[in-house]
Amino acid sequence: MGSVADNLARIEERIQAACASCGRAREDVTLVCVSKTFPREAVQEAFIAGARHFGESRWQEAEPKVAAGPVGATWHFIGKLQSNKVKKVGQAFHLIHTIDSISQLAEFRKLDHVVDVMVEVNCANEEQKAGISPKSLDSFLEDVLQCEKVRFKGLMTVGPLVSDPDQSRVHFRLLAELGKKAGAPFLSMGMSNDFEVAIQEGATHIRVGSAIFGSRF
Ligand SMILES: *Cc1c(COP(=O)(O)O)cnc(C)c1O
Repeated sequence: MGSVADNLARIEERIQAACASCGRAREDVTLVCVSKTFPREAVQEAFIAGARHFGESRWQEAEPKVAAGPVGATWHFIGKLQSNKVKKVGQAFHLIHTIDSISQLAEFRKLDHVVDVMVEVNCANEEQKAGISPKSLDSFLEDVLQCEKVRFKGLMTVGPLVSDPDQSRVHFRLLAELGKKAGAPFLSMGMSNDFEVAIQEGATHIRVGSAIFGSRF
């Protein structure tokens, strides 16, 4: 792995190539740099290299990083959101990608401000995977739209682990179809191993960690 700046430059080239391959505008895709498990210095390094969007998945870990984070950074919550963390996460983060339960919505109702959210969909119906199943999505979205403290922005999915990125395409395509039906402007899909396919299928937010910051293990 090169430096964070080098890695970002390489990812940027790949994003541009993926956009060109399907006739999309580069500005329509937001790169969310997933900094989970990496120190705030890594966030700083990426920010200096031009990154502005950062993703974290655990409140305890994220709190000091968000607090110390560079002014002008936008924070995305992409992990499992426990109901008892809704208040803190809702205040600190700009966009929450992982809404998937009625109990979360009940906690949002107690807030005194409105939070931008996406609904997580378990596109491949994997057991033990977070997210709403595609067949339950319509009914869950009714609950989301009735919650006056959340602003529905889109759908998010974490694809199954695949060896060939093209195997993710069917799941991304399904999310895009569901998003279109729901009138969702945002689609959060694609990670280090399959973000190009996600862009081709309509991703507006790609979540890239290890390809920028290095291996977490
Ligand atoms: C960790 C994580 C990512 C980033 O994964 P990489 O494979 O390191 O790019 C993206 N989305 C979610 C929800 C994650 O938890």
